[in-house]
Amino acid sequence: MIKIHDKIFVPYLSEGEIDGIVNRIANQINADYKGKQPLFIGIMNGSFMFASDLMKKIELTCEISFVKFASYVRMESSGELTNLVGLQQSIKDRHVVIVEDIIDTGQTLEKVIHMMEKQGAASIRIATLLLKPDVFNKNYDVDYVGKDIPNKFVVGYGLDYDQLGRNLSEIYQIEEKNNMLNIVLFGPPGAGKGTQAERIVEKYQLFHLSTGDVFRYNIKNETELGKLAKSYMDKGQLVPDEVTIKLLISEVEKHPEAKGFIFDGFPRTKPQAAALDEILAERETEIRMMLGLDVTEAELKSRLLERAKTSGRADDANPEIIQNRIDVYKEETAPVKAFYAAQNKFIKIDGLGSIDEITARLFEAIDSAG
Ligand code: AMP
Repeated sequence: MIKIHDKIFVPYLSEGEIDGIVNRIANQINADYKGKQPLFIGIMNGSFMFASDLMKKIELTCEISFVKFASYVRMESSGELTNLVGLQQSIKDRHVVIVEDIIDTGQTLEKVIHMMEKQGAASIRIATLLLKPDVFNKNYDVDYVGKDIPNKFVVGYGLDYDQLGRNLSEIYQIEEKNNMLNIVLFGPPGAGKGTQAERIVEKYQLFHLSTGDVFRYNIKNETELGKLAKSYMDKGQLVPDEVTIKLLISEVEKHPEAKGFIFDGFPRTKPQAAALDEILAERETEIRMMLGLDVTEAELKSRLLERAKTSGRADDANPEIIQNRIDVYKEETAPVKAFYAAQNKFIKIDGLGSIDEITARLFEAIDSAG
């Protein structure tokens, strides 16, 4: 991973991959131009590395020249072609091979081609290392394409981001993380996760995903999943990872429009945490932070027994089951903290005090962690 100006770039094409591409194009050109003496015209500045490596592999008698114009301004093509400079030889009756590093809309090149046609070139072909087919919208053939790439910004191997990065020997792609705000709200049973999650959801417009709530919904509707989950929940045990992870994936998939998720009661084991990272990575996003509510065991027990008076939850009413849930938390769930701490994402929140006080602490942590 590298940083250029304000942007992060991740490796995209290695030296070896680029070399393979250059070889392939050189072989094709060597075969196609056998017996001819082509004139290669590299478009500066970006094509200098590609042109250099390509020319070393050209076995024909040939000439090379470079032309230059300034049409790229920072991230976007300005679309304006200024003067083309540097072409010294006449291209009349010549077999021209234009050498480009990258073609996106193709607009710049179209003007160059027209100009060369007017000057009477015998033939004009284009060799580009990279092509963005999603944005290329011109009506001419690109004869030699090293690689089709998605419409994402790339640097290295001649390509720049605001003039930097041309010297890199590999090609990097801009890291476009999906900007979702995904939070794990963590803590033992009775820590106040459900209550606080509702407030966070309201303020930050996130989707609240509580695996416990989804299991209870299934129990109420007497689904197969509900029956299975109930057998574990009634004893204060965890529902097996395989079942829980599958459920989580289907819940995440149901809400592709979410600005972010607040995960409440998930992940509860290390395998669940690892699965969550994978699920989010597939969607080009990640967990931003884990907020861990810190509450004493005595306080947890009294809160759960108090909640039992209104929640109707069997697992809240029985002190033995409560103890079992707390023990399961200590043994299986607490280690999940280390998983996020290792990624620098764990934030401990004092979970004692009034509901409003705890909410204020959570909001402050979210705002300052960004
Ligand atoms: P909760 O509503 O989060 O307190 O969860 C109630 C019960 O649902 C737990 O005691 C477990 O039996 C089950 N459960 C909820 N989330 C999970 C999870 N991520 N992994 C395994 N079991 C879970």
